Amino acid sequence: MALMNENFLKLPGSYLFSEIARRVTQFKNENPDADIIRLGIGDVTRPLPPAVIEAMKKAVDEMGKAETFRGYGPEQGYNFLIESIIENDYKTRGVTLDIDEIYVSDGAKSDTANFQEIFGINNIMAVSDPVYPVYVDSNVMAGRTGNYNTDKGQYDNIVYLPCTEENGMKPAFPTTHVDMIYLCFPNNPTGMTLTKNELKQWVDYAREHKSIILYDSAYEAFIREENVPRTIYEVEGAREVAVEFRSFSKTAGFTGTRCAYTVIPKELMIYDSKGEAHSLNKLWLRRQTTKFNGVSYPVQAAAAAIYTPEGKKQIKETIDYYMENARIIREGLTEAGYEVFGGINAPYIWMKTPKQMGSWEFFDKLMKEAHVVGTPGAGFGANGEGFFRLTAFGTRENTEKAIQRIKTKMGK
Ligand SMILES: *Cc1c(COP(=O)(O)O)cnc(C)c1O
Repeated sequence: MALMNENFLKLPGSYLFSEIARRVTQFKNENPDADIIRLGIGDVTRPLPPAVIEAMKKAVDEMGKAETFRGYGPEQGYNFLIESIIENDYKTRGVTLDIDEIYVSDGAKSDTANFQEIFGINNIMAVSDPVYPVYVDSNVMAGRTGNYNTDKGQYDNIVYLPCTEENGMKPAFPTTHVDMIYLCFPNNPTGMTLTKNELKQWVDYAREHKSIILYDSAYEAFIREENVPRTIYEVEGAREVAVEFRSFSKTAGFTGTRCAYTVIPKELMIYDSKGEAHSLNKLWLRRQTTKFNGVSYPVQAAAAAIYTPEGKKQIKETIDYYMENARIIREGLTEAGYEVFGGINAPYIWMKTPKQMGSWEFFDKLMKEAHVVGTPGAGFGANGEGFFRLTAFGTRENTEKAIQRIKTKMGK
């Protein structure tokens, strides 16, 4: 008899998006004429930029000729892409990285989920609450989180860092020791950011406690304000304590194309039970060369094209488009009397439900009265209750229409 990994039984099930789909389907069946606008999913809608398509086509043609055909590439990614990343995403911010400090991958989801494999099973992990569910669920599967407490909606051994209205959605510092700290800025779902000074406090905390920060920076490209750091390595000392995850998904429309990268500075150390230090970078190299065979050449060639002058201009236009949607949502909701967070340096708007309404109750009301679908905050953690997420990834037309409907039908 094959025995299962019983940690999987601790997962409460992928309730959020399937429950949303169920409610939308039921509503549509009952109201076939309703024109439903979806501002719920975190997926992009604008096509890949022309420079990316051109580079991908060229690379596909190369694969069709014996002289330019490529087989297995380096597991860590091609140097042409890594060099462009270093030059454009880091050097411009005064951060120097070596080629072997960057690992190209097929996604920040897989990287943030897989990275915990390097850590011992008894490490205590901390996550902000609300949170992107991947960090939690991957650690549940590994057996690091203890059991799920249904009453609290939390795992027994995870340290949750509440992001609340009172603390301006900035995660509270842990009051007990933690070893692994997942941070995501600009944040999904709250759309909020930390200033350089605030981020420095986390780096200082990690240095003092010998903890490691797993910094998800998938929305870096949406940052507009000057005092918001573009990379955690702008903070002094971060090279000793932080891994940074980036993705081309939201930056350049790669959600269906798949390319991302992870930065692991060589100073980063993790310890064995004898107290001996080991290089996290080398451990990840060992892990990747065993379990991963790299991202396809056409996709890496396509990703590199976003760093050409045309590519840069084209992705900027797309990001500007989404951020104009974000402005429309944020200002429209504010005018309608709602309290909102985010939407300034991120494509997410985190709104407080009116009259302390539960997130799911608000979901139903918004769908039934305005025919707009968003994401209930409770789906991102206990502290998401009473909040609701709207995304700026829709079309301009739908975004304007949705906000107009909320204003006329659901103004406070
Ligand atoms: C969308 C998203 C990612 C990107 O994941 P990919 O696997 O690269 O598409 C990573 N982290 C967060 C918080 C996200 O919302």
